[in-house]
Amino acid sequence: MKITLRVFVIFLSLRIAAQAADQLIVLKAARFFDGKSDALVQNAVVIVQGDKIIDAGSNLPVPSDAQVIDLGDATLSPGFMDAHTHLTADFSGNYNERRLQQLDLNVSEHAIRATVFARATVEAGFTTVRDLGSRFVGSHEFVDVALRNSINKGVIAGPRMLVATKGIGATGGHFDPTNGFRDFLFRRESDFTDGIANGPDEIRKAVRFEVKNGADVIKAAVSGGVLSLGDEVDTPQLTPAEMTALVDESHRLRKKVAVHCHGDQAAREAIEAGVDSIEHGSFMKPETLTMMKKKGTFLTPTLMASEWIMGKLDNYPPALQAKAKAAYRARSEMFRNAVKMGIKISFGTDAAVFPHGQNAKEFKLMVDLSMKPIDALKSATANDAELLGIAQKVGTLEKGKLADIIAMPGDPTSDITATERVTFVMKEGKIIRQGPRTAQGTVKATIMPDVSEPVD
Ligand SMILES: [Zn+2]
Repeated sequence: MKITLRVFVIFLSLRIAAQAADQLIVLKAARFFDGKSDALVQNAVVIVQGDKIIDAGSNLPVPSDAQVIDLGDATLSPGFMDAHTHLTADFSGNYNERRLQQLDLNVSEHAIRATVFARATVEAGFTTVRDLGSRFVGSHEFVDVALRNSINKGVIAGPRMLVATKGIGATGGHFDPTNGFRDFLFRRESDFTDGIANGPDEIRKAVRFEVKNGADVIKAAVSGGVLSLGDEVDTPQLTPAEMTALVDESHRLRKKVAVHCHGDQAAREAIEAGVDSIEHGSFMKPETLTMMKKKGTFLTPTLMASEWIMGKLDNYPPALQAKAKAAYRARSEMFRNAVKMGIKISFGTDAAVFPHGQNAKEFKLMVDLSMKPIDALKSATANDAELLGIAQKVGTLEKGKLADIIAMPGDPTSDITATERVTFVMKEGKIIRQGPRTAQGTVKATIMPDVSEPVD
């Protein structure tokens, strides 16, 4: 009798668990953006069961047993994606202070901070990110891999992550972790285990090493950068032969290639080599954009990064201020040309250069530089899903897709800043946020003031 009762109790709890998993949730709102169309749908109804969307449309009948969440005068959208973040870091404060902190803090402490950045990002409506490079000088830890895995296992809240581990680059280049420090301070030259490689064979070795250690995507620096001391912002840093090896090895292993690139020559060589996206692209000329258009290469403009730096120039040493100004001056025209020419634009911000959770401010910058609001929204949904290679699972509000759904007040096509005021976040059918965001402030950098007026 006792055993029968126990079996019955187990059976009952299994049934309750199964029912909980199958509970229908209906999201209603004044309108929705499906992730790919040119117009919003009115009287939006999205039906979710388990982790998937089972139907989405206008005025759909609501099943009688569903839990209904009516979000009122809001717009539903597929969860936003950011194709360029660094969730394991924060470079937003004073540059020298941050540099010292990099040497001060235990890597475990960096990892704990990263959990706060991950939460801030998903609560801002970004349910997927590509994390393009995570390294700590003098350490071989893969904090981005640990963060991704902990989010996937439900240990902490955060966006779905595709991670690049170390980021590949040349000796003395933008990614060399010892760039700008006294020689041999760290007692050895950076090597492929730090992502630093020279020559096609070493580049292949670095790609293989990163994939072995959990990389979902390969990132490389093919030109100089703004926030590195020992290089010029636009000089090429990999040879065409190295780039060909980089792309070939990555694609053979079914990994996409994202390249950090400001300079025009490096961009031309990288596009020719077949990279999947150019990150930043500040100095690209119209002829280079034409090559991108022909090849179908994505541009991830990261307007927020230069906007933030220009708003806080005093935080950076004079050499970096000069590089930032040059990149900022060039990028607005480049972006306008890219929009005019119909280049595929993927939404990406370089979060970490500015405080995590402010990613959506990129939308307004895109619109201010001539992009249509609906196209800016597509860049963060269908376009990013295509670039990341996950379009079969996410990026649109359609039957069969994972239920990554957010809501913002009003109509973002008439006021794009609505994207900065997301009020509801669901990821894979689980509600992450409904109402106010988790209080920030445990990490100093996340309470930096908002982006101020850019300096010309
Ligand atoms: Zn970056």
